[in-house]
Amino acid sequence: MLLIPCPHCGERAQVEFAYGGDATKRRPADGAPDEAWYEYVYLRGNPRGPHREWWLHHGGCGRWIRVIRDTATHAVLGAEPAIDSRDSGVVPGGSASGEPREEEGGGPPAAPVPPPRRDTGAGEG
Ligand SMILES: [Zn+2]
Repeated sequence: MLLIPCPHCGERAQVEFAYGGDATKRRPADGAPDEAWYEYVYLRGNPRGPHREWWLHHGGCGRWIRVIRDTATHAVLGAEPAIDSRDSGVVPGGSASGEPREEEGGGPPAAPVPPPRRDTGAGEG
């Protein structure tokens, strides 16, 4: 099991997180050609070594973070908030301005991975 250092909550088990995809992809601008959207939506690299990925901490703070994970060893090399001081006015999952961030990777995925149901059974029976 991976231990992911959430920048908001500290080190937590992987089961509290949902993988959100490649954080190096940049969302094409509105009006971009179909080829750009095809590449953004469907084409993925298969890098070996450190790679930036989106992860949603659904079992904790509920925030998107960027995790740097070595795809060859699964070692988690670091994590950072999806938003930092360079991103004033931009919120995860849908920016305040409607525009993606200008840095590598753009914002978190627009359609978040739904977290697994964690019904405790309370209220039933
Ligand atoms: Zn967290």
